[in-house]
Amino acid sequence: KTDELLALRLSEVPRGVSNGHPIVAARAEGVRLWDVEGRVYHDWVGGIGVLNVGHNHPRVLEAVRAQLEQFSHTCFQVAMYEPYLRLAQRLNTCFPGGGPVKTLFFTTGAEATENAVKIARAYTGRPAVISFTHSFHGRTLLGMTLTGKKAYYAQNFGPFAPDVYHAPFPYEYRGVSVEAALAGLQEMFRTTVDPSRVAAIILEPVLGEGGFLPAPPAFLRALREICDQHGIVFIADEIQSGVGRTGSFWAIEQSGVQPDLLTFAKSIGGGLPISGVTGKAEIMDAPAPGGLGGTYAGNPLACAAGLAVLDLFEDGTLLAQARHVGERLHEAFRDLQTEFPGIGDVRGLGPMVAMEFVKDRGTKEPDPEMATRVVEAARRRGLLLLKAGMYANVIRVLVPITVTDAELDEGLDLFRAAVREA
Ligand code: PLP
Repeated sequence: KTDELLALRLSEVPRGVSNGHPIVAARAEGVRLWDVEGRVYHDWVGGIGVLNVGHNHPRVLEAVRAQLEQFSHTCFQVAMYEPYLRLAQRLNTCFPGGGPVKTLFFTTGAEATENAVKIARAYTGRPAVISFTHSFHGRTLLGMTLTGKKAYYAQNFGPFAPDVYHAPFPYEYRGVSVEAALAGLQEMFRTTVDPSRVAAIILEPVLGEGGFLPAPPAFLRALREICDQHGIVFIADEIQSGVGRTGSFWAIEQSGVQPDLLTFAKSIGGGLPISGVTGKAEIMDAPAPGGLGGTYAGNPLACAAGLAVLDLFEDGTLLAQARHVGERLHEAFRDLQTEFPGIGDVRGLGPMVAMEFVKDRGTKEPDPEMATRVVEAARRRGLLLLKAGMYANVIRVLVPITVTDAELDEGLDLFRAAVREA
């Protein structure tokens, strides 16, 4: 069955949709995923950061079923509905900044990125946008333009959006300190783009696709000051790092820095497609009526799922669980690092943990082949993993934070065995 279906993938689907694991999903629950052959996997990828509360969480299913009984779509422009408004209201209280807050919804992360930039441009009346090296913001044209980690997939799609500039992201392990990154930004202001032309700085508080690099708090504080000094809108892209992934609801909370706008997607919908922008009401209200939206934006089923996800976070137990998972992963990965010289760096924030493979700890030459061998060995043993990073030599963990200790133990045993085999 798998061979037959994967043959269809090659014959019926364009090659631009890159190959993933050579398996075909049949069903999934919690941390587990079964393929069409009946094989079971520990899913440590979670649909690329979408399943922080696990596959098919019963509370999410219940909320979606209840909404499905009512209606599945109206479009907010035709008839607004309560789940949209309640979800916006709840997210407004979660925003990591003071003052009046507003929220609106889209469907994909890339749309959230695009619209956050539109809002910042409408508010400031300025054209330019600054993003960072190693960043990832989506596959639309502006999303790809903003993306710093573009070499491997953004070929032959130009011309890209104008007035987008990439500043250095601090990467201590590879010699880019906070000071060097800030000096790079200041140099860019002197030579390339005047800060008075910049509408927004967009940054992932923890790089996702770029290899799980947390932005140091000192860097975030400095960016906040720069934004205040020049009237630039500070956008935190929490599409991968948000919704409990780092042990706080939003990753940026841990630095104490307050963004102006925040983009979210992925895990907020517990598996259903929903994204959005939340932020200071004064900025959010800048675009004129009709300028923001989309037919499916804030679909009612996805809003109902989002409310169920927020309910799960309500009493703080799940965030405590996330921090516990994070501590266990860091400890296990550090132990492995002691054992294997090929593991150059272990890093992350809370349970958003990754390891970087190198050929030599001295030269730090990336070892993407080793990372691939680990991913393949893990899959053969029943553990799904995903790579990340500019050099494709990072393995990241996006295990559901609802995972139990016993499930985590099983997964970690498979992980260790895969590293030893590779
Ligand atoms: N921003 C970040 C930080 C992401 O990790 C992603 C997806 O991986 C996106 C934006 C784009 O989201 P989507 O694939 O839903 O368009």
